[in-house]
Amino acid sequence: MIKHLLFIAAMMAASFATARNLPLPQFGSAEHKSAGDDIKLQFASDISGTEKIKLALPNGLILTYGEIVTLAGDFYGDPEKPISLGKTEQDRRQRFWRAYSTLAIDPGAVTEAPKILAVVQDEELQLQDGMKKGESPDAVYDRIATENDVAWNCITGGLCAEDYPGISKELLHKIYYLKQGRYLKLEDKNFDHFGQEAWLAYSVGHKIAVDMAISAGRTLDKKKLAESYAVNAFANHYLSDGFSTGHLRTPHLSLYNHVSPATVGSLLASYMHYEDNEYGLTISNRYGETWKAYGDAYYFDPRNKKNRDILLKVMQASADEIFAAYNYGLAPTDDKVAALVPDLKKANTLDPSHNNIAPLFYWDEKKQALLRRVDISNPYDYEWTENWTGWGTLTELMNAKGSLRSLQGELLSHPDTQIPAILAGLINDSELLRWFQSFQTTDHA
Ligand SMILES: [Zn+2]
Repeated sequence: MIKHLLFIAAMMAASFATARNLPLPQFGSAEHKSAGDDIKLQFASDISGTEKIKLALPNGLILTYGEIVTLAGDFYGDPEKPISLGKTEQDRRQRFWRAYSTLAIDPGAVTEAPKILAVVQDEELQLQDGMKKGESPDAVYDRIATENDVAWNCITGGLCAEDYPGISKELLHKIYYLKQGRYLKLEDKNFDHFGQEAWLAYSVGHKIAVDMAISAGRTLDKKKLAESYAVNAFANHYLSDGFSTGHLRTPHLSLYNHVSPATVGSLLASYMHYEDNEYGLTISNRYGETWKAYGDAYYFDPRNKKNRDILLKVMQASADEIFAAYNYGLAPTDDKVAALVPDLKKANTLDPSHNNIAPLFYWDEKKQALLRRVDISNPYDYEWTENWTGWGTLTELMNAKGSLRSLQGELLSHPDTQIPAILAGLINDSELLRWFQSFQTTDHA
């Protein structure tokens, strides 16, 4: 069957606008780390907080706050159980704890996490070096992102170059999606990193951390206070994603649930996420602050300074609540964090006078329908339609904006899209198709 399809595919292969390396699917790891390592942690009321304190986890890992923020969600978690999709608070608490445990309790993380962090460190160096030479941060990411993804996929159980002696870097970059490690699997259903779902995932983790800190305070248990900070750092991953514009209003979950096949919905989410990251959004919070923010790969961009400052203020407020809970034995009553974060409703405005680009997709609550911008090429077209299809829009986007990084590999790696994508001529890379075929044969042998 596959062989037959390959023949058809070769005949049909459409030529699309040259693949642009559309940047990151998520906040860069060095971006998360930088924010987390600027947070001051307090351990006694008469001694002010310090940055980069090492926190001991139950499995023996010793990590900084920033390292935990980085590893959470993107590298550690249960790919099949997004926290925010828990039906009840109790269910969400259990899912958060399970996600946290994959980093903090599972023994496998002890040798694995340092390998992931070594790649993050390299990313930091490349960014510093590139920016010193006048390169923009998103251009640096453009250059290094695939290579890092390949490394992280291998470290977390996916395809590794070592298993294919002599394989070229170019080929590796094409086929790594065909054997997914936990890193790529987590990316697949990363609803916890978007909009309201990100806020839910943060809130539930933060509450667990507050409860732990209250209990630590009763016996002045500093070790337990340190673990409360570790739990809070894990939750802060989702909090910080809420400051990346591509994550604010992209209706990732709605696209996944309402577009058929679901994988196409996720790919459409990537396109919108990319557009909102690049153009940025004017956002505001309940304190009445209004600022321009940008998204993944733009964290260090000079234009993103105000957004960075407010994110740090929010993350510091979140950590301060942990110490207050320890110190006073009470959960915080004034929700400073909620007042400081971007107002999601306002960010979702469809009003052109707000000066934000028109969202590529949005969920219309009244109509209970997923709407698409009529002109996908023009971000200033404030007209939407209910009449569109997933495959049709994906093809239009590929033609108008270029292919997503590893899009063909992604289409082939999901059972719901592999055959339709081949039949539609969306897979025009014959080398990738051959590898796909050989993996199919070995998998079924
Ligand atoms: Zn994330």
